Amino acid sequence: ARGGLVLPGLIDTHRHMWQTAMRGYGADWTLTQYFVWYYLEHGRHFRPEDIHAGNLLAAAEALDAGVTTVVDWSHGLSTPEHADAAADALTSLPGRYVLALGNIHQAPTQWTADPGIRAFLRRRRTDDDMLAFQLAFDVTGDPEFPEKPAFEAARELGLPVTTHAGVWGATGDDGIRLMHEHGFMGPETVYVHSASLSADSYHRIAATGGSVSVSTESEQSAGQGYPPTWRLRAHDIPVSLSMDTSVWWSGDLFSAMRATLGADRSREHLQAHERGETVTHSALRADQVVAWATNGGARALGRGDDLGTLETGRKADVVLLRNDDSPAMFPILHPYGHVVFQAQRGDVHTVLVNGRVVKHAHCLVGVDLAAIRHAVANTVDHLRGALGEEA
Ligand SMILES: [Zn+2]
Repeated sequence: ARGGLVLPGLIDTHRHMWQTAMRGYGADWTLTQYFVWYYLEHGRHFRPEDIHAGNLLAAAEALDAGVTTVVDWSHGLSTPEHADAAADALTSLPGRYVLALGNIHQAPTQWTADPGIRAFLRRRRTDDDMLAFQLAFDVTGDPEFPEKPAFEAARELGLPVTTHAGVWGATGDDGIRLMHEHGFMGPETVYVHSASLSADSYHRIAATGGSVSVSTESEQSAGQGYPPTWRLRAHDIPVSLSMDTSVWWSGDLFSAMRATLGADRSREHLQAHERGETVTHSALRADQVVAWATNGGARALGRGDDLGTLETGRKADVVLLRNDDSPAMFPILHPYGHVVFQAQRGDVHTVLVNGRVVKHAHCLVGVDLAAIRHAVANTVDHLRGALGEEA
């Protein structure tokens, strides 16, 4: 490792892995266009094998970039067969995953009570810490609180809930208040984005010990609200990082760290200038952002004791950044700054997950990329046929 940087495996707490099969397709979308495409029109065309293909590609991409743990926010699971396909893909690659079950084609109350989904969980939940589970659904803010039975199901099943909260025009303060008033906010709850909430909602999140998954690249171009790290810091709410979906954005957390540090500082400067002042010392530091991408993710997943830092007795999820052929990898004078502003996925030399070498000398080990390429091509062909060339 001489001349390189060793860091804990990176942890992504919110990634719609199934959508990686359509990598880059939505680069110019807004959130509205995304909702129309996946939720209203074309999401139903994804077969179990398409979920499988997307998850395989996303899993390989994550390992390649040193992302050793991913929460697969899998909200395209329209049948139990789709759920099995998602889990099969995740267990076939040597990463650490949390499969967050979701289904945008049914109400949360409906699919969480589905006997097929209950049977899936009985079949697939084990003590193996390489594949854990969450429930993934959003809270509309309807005063009738129709999501209540889904929260009760999560409690009954002993599964944490992850929810897109604070998404401009979609989910907001009413949803947070209803969750809080009904006692469904806890330390295990992960709030994704939380970019357009009032101080009252941040107080409720802080008081109940929950954490926020910030997807800065997503918030910057989709329109959920300004990336909220500046508000989360003010309320002392724990932060983890995520990239959301490769249908738009980069699947490496170097980009997420860089975008997050830039967005926080950009806003700090803008606000100072409006007061006629100059920022002389940045509030958010590079080491904090690296901690969010590692230990922050571990703590959000209740794994702060065995993941997210390099210490004796912890799980061996380790990344070596080293690239002797790169003129950007020396000199290394500020290690955290180097990780955030200089390094990228091509500099990931070696990756270990649970003590197993999954990438070495810049090449994935034991991952059949040709087979994944074939599966994804089949999915793209299927969707092109089902949707028509115009779509
Ligand atoms: Zn999302």
